[in-house]
Amino acid sequence: MSVSRDKENGQDKIKIQNYIGGGFEEPVSREYLPNFNPSTGFDYSGVPDSDERDVEKAIEAAKSAFPVWSRTPAAERSRVLLRIAELIEASAERLARAECIDNGKPLTLARNMDIPRAASNIRFFATAILHSHSELHQTDSTALNYTLRNPRGIAGLISPWNLPLYLFTWKVAPALATGNVAVAKPSEVTPMTAFLFTEICREAGLPDGVLNVVHGLGGKAGAAMVNHPEITTISFTGGTKTGAEIARVASPLFKKLSLEMGGKNPNIVFADADLDEVVPASVKAAFSNQGQICLCGSRLFVEEKIYPEFLDRFLALSRNLKVGDPLAEETDQGALVSREQLEKVEYYVNLAREEGGQILCGGKRPESLPERCQDGYFFEPTVIVGLSSGCRVNQEEIFGPVVSLIPFSDEQEVVAAANSTPYGLSASIWTKDISRAHRVADEIQCGTVWVNCWLLRDLRVPFGGMKSSGVGREGGEEALRFFTEPKNVCIQIPR
Ligand code: NAD
Repeated sequence: MSVSRDKENGQDKIKIQNYIGGGFEEPVSREYLPNFNPSTGFDYSGVPDSDERDVEKAIEAAKSAFPVWSRTPAAERSRVLLRIAELIEASAERLARAECIDNGKPLTLARNMDIPRAASNIRFFATAILHSHSELHQTDSTALNYTLRNPRGIAGLISPWNLPLYLFTWKVAPALATGNVAVAKPSEVTPMTAFLFTEICREAGLPDGVLNVVHGLGGKAGAAMVNHPEITTISFTGGTKTGAEIARVASPLFKKLSLEMGGKNPNIVFADADLDEVVPASVKAAFSNQGQICLCGSRLFVEEKIYPEFLDRFLALSRNLKVGDPLAEETDQGALVSREQLEKVEYYVNLAREEGGQILCGGKRPESLPERCQDGYFFEPTVIVGLSSGCRVNQEEIFGPVVSLIPFSDEQEVVAAANSTPYGLSASIWTKDISRAHRVADEIQCGTVWVNCWLLRDLRVPFGGMKSSGVGREGGEEALRFFTEPKNVCIQIPR
């Protein structure tokens, strides 16, 4: 690890390195991008400003590792991956702190969600390959067809900043488990835990070149990956605009694409829901990770009959959330990930005012913050009422601690409103009426519907979005299939 002196507080400033062919490398350009700690606004580490030359080196390393790794028995691939999962667990506190500092999320969240999930992702796919099977189709008594599922080669894995290690490993694990090699690019906004992860991979004995991590800008290092003819599989999670650009470039090259993109998820509360359960769960759905989870319930539809009481209770809990230093144990809400994201949220809150909305909670940067957080990118949890379902604030993804409450009077009306955005990632429905739950779940246009819960995850289920939220599915069998190429072998049965 290369270090240089940090001007402000005398600590070592970590220069993150690319991980290519099992070694740590400077970018060819020798240029580094700043990496800001969102809770202090301080540039605390350097991110390699990689370009197509670094991607080329990573591809060469991946190519030389492929023949051996793809033929390594599944049990051996599994063993190495399980060792990585163990090492993530052994370094959990260090990784959680790194994630908290790099992303601005509360340490408690990184500790309880991000890092355990990263280990689970690796463990899940490390064991899935020991239990998977492929199909056999018998053609009457004349032939047997069996399906081979071979690794596709070099996978390009591109991940976002909101759940950095969690989503990075969600791609790395199935890609490597199925025998592919990978060139991966974490978000340039939150590169730290992916860097620490590469140290873990090395320690775990992952063969050189199987995973190569190139850090840098999406439009430069990311675009070079998408353009490169030898990366034939691209798994991307990020914004819808970026996904569209990746599809534009990759489709004519006939790459296999998985795109997990933005959301504007409805959280629908019917009058028969249990308020003691649904109010705290809706606060969590709105504000977890400062509202920067693609699955956050940012449009909160509440049946008119219970709207006044729901609103009172929802406001009370939202006002109670403690915004503060993400490293402090009592903090509920940390910093937004970047100044750009903070400004985006402020833009939308101002737009809400222009569109006729009332801000009943938050709507501004917090006034009292600890001294070291004065220049951080904090924003109060914000509750907006009085906006129509069709206005921009209720149609466009904000991706911050902002929720809009919308009363409704009947089921058809709320289903139509829920389906009215270009997005289709997830939805929650709260009701005791099981028939209604089935009916509404069937009608909502999205990839995941939660009934009387939110963000309850089982790694075996298909995960992804429809409409502008995604193409393809991740998770379980879907991921194993995505990262392999099916080949049918037809054997005639001699008479
Ligand atoms: P982003 O699209 O800006 O960046 C995501 C990744 O793509 C980064 O690594 C970035 O460097 C890279 N990238 C950018 N331009 C590229 C290009 N032209 N070619 C190749 N790579 C490029 O997204 P973000 O701001 O990091 O993340 C927030 C977005 O991610 C939100 O819209 C959120 O909803 C979405 N998201 C979706 C899911 C999901 O599962 N559907 C999960 C998490 C986040």
